[in-house]
Amino acid sequence: MKGIGASAGIAIGNVLVKGNKIEVKKYKIEDCDNEIKRFRKALDTSISQIKDLIVFTEDTLGKEEGKVFEAHIHMLKDEELITLIESKVKESKFNIEWAVKDATDFYVDMFNSLDNSYMRERSIDLIDVSNRIINNLLNLDTIDYSKLNEAVILAANDLTPSETAQLPKNKVLGFITEAGGPTSHVAIIAKNLGIPAIVGAGKVLDSFNEKSLIVMDGGTGEFFINPDNLIINQFNEKKNYLEKEEELNKHVLGMESISKDGKTFEIVCNIGAPEELNQVIENDGEGIGLFRSEFIYMGRGEAPSEEEQLNCYKKVVQGMNGKPVIIRTLDVGGDKEIPYLNIEKEQNPFLGFRASRYCLKEKELFKVQLRAILRSSAFGNVRVMFPMISSVQEVRAIKKLLEECKSELKANKIAYDENIKIGIMIEIPSAAIISDILAKEVDFFSIGTNDLIQYTIAVDRLNESISELYTPYHPAILRLISTVIKNGHKEGITVGICGEAASDIKLLPVFMGMDLDEFSVSPALVLKLRRHMKKFSTTEAKEISNKILKLEDSEIINKLLEDTMNCYEKIE
Ligand code: PEP
Ligand code: MG
Repeated sequence: MKGIGASAGIAIGNVLVKGNKIEVKKYKIEDCDNEIKRFRKALDTSISQIKDLIVFTEDTLGKEEGKVFEAHIHMLKDEELITLIESKVKESKFNIEWAVKDATDFYVDMFNSLDNSYMRERSIDLIDVSNRIINNLLNLDTIDYSKLNEAVILAANDLTPSETAQLPKNKVLGFITEAGGPTSHVAIIAKNLGIPAIVGAGKVLDSFNEKSLIVMDGGTGEFFINPDNLIINQFNEKKNYLEKEEELNKHVLGMESISKDGKTFEIVCNIGAPEELNQVIENDGEGIGLFRSEFIYMGRGEAPSEEEQLNCYKKVVQGMNGKPVIIRTLDVGGDKEIPYLNIEKEQNPFLGFRASRYCLKEKELFKVQLRAILRSSAFGNVRVMFPMISSVQEVRAIKKLLEECKSELKANKIAYDENIKIGIMIEIPSAAIISDILAKEVDFFSIGTNDLIQYTIAVDRLNESISELYTPYHPAILRLISTVIKNGHKEGITVGICGEAASDIKLLPVFMGMDLDEFSVSPALVLKLRRHMKKFSTTEAKEISNKILKLEDSEIINKLLEDTMNCYEKIE
């Protein structure tokens, strides 16, 4: 079975199914004032519980995560909601628990009917708040993890952010939810807590019995219910292997990213939100190689303002404390939909009106972002990068807009880095082929292998039925990457890779041998890459990449890379 991998890691254990529905009875009451008194008391209790929760969350996860629950306090103090609930009791003479549920259901249904994922996610917060008030009115316990004899894998229709933040790591090995997306608060909190998690698994709760054994991989989203011994052994092996690896990886914390003979490379991180900064710092990321800024446009009803964007970029830039931060401009389109931008349905969205193409048409929206990025450059080491570049005209048009934004800021005496470095993603074959021309226009390249593979081999990166054709080992991909690096270096600019291929350990010596300057990977993979990097000397890496570049087919390349890795695996 498969859901969406939301937080990496293997978990094996018995399931605990969490019922989301609280039974709320509806009955006539005599004393309205008493019901309202009970309600006010339950509100006070809920507020003080959430205040404790904020302190707990800030201590365990950080300030930013605590903010999720400040929104809960606002809901508990919302006069409109309180008046609605109390007037329901007074007018209908039904009990307060029913009134709380009826009033919050009304708002939840309204939020859910909107074509807006931000509002839909807020409805989860409202359910969380409503359940808390009702639990307090009825003196109900939520799951008491301290009474569990053994650690479990939690399965639920959905979890609320507050439930997720309070999951005790020693009792909850992992969780699977039927609902939810990879950018929800729940997924972000799970990642930060280091609890393996799968979200968006679809209707699966009915398949679990009390005591079903589950094995799950929060990285791939794969899970099995009551698997046979063969699968259990495979998952156990994966788990042991990952644990051993993690221990070994810790040995390179605080060290430089260098080859066996001392050549330095940069290992930086891919992030989608300031909340991921903790992980970058914990894992010793040397900067941000790709801040996917489109995620800050998602889950809301309108584009973030210049100030909102500035605050968000500033947090990342200041958090990195002088280390480089590459902010990629809005890469909307393809599979990344932002409903309020009203991009029409297209036959081939990946080949359509997306990313820089969209931004060059929607100049005002684009300039808001450019100004915010420029302003953030006054607070640290910021670089700006443009996605989906296919021609030199596009680069020149973007640079012109950037100059316009600089002039506007200058005229208003607003600070920014005048020498901010400009880069482009090389992720369309045409850009790779003319990389000699493009290299004269910019300060750096970052190769987006995720898209470069799909466009070069003409294989949809989302289509499971042709997924075996999607490979970074295709000679065309490796030749293009080698060409781009050489062309970049001829013009004296740096070249990185920020697609998933950058963290493929088998390709590490190949890219080192090609003299790639920068590897941009998920925070959790920095140390692993650094540890393997020091196994190869520059001469060895060059030999491997030269050999690979002469091969004709991806299967042979894969096999040779596997054999090479096996030879180097045991070196520590
Ligand atoms: C890429 O295409 O390789 C890339 C890093 O960008 P994204 O995955 O966001 O398209
Ligand atoms: Mg891309």
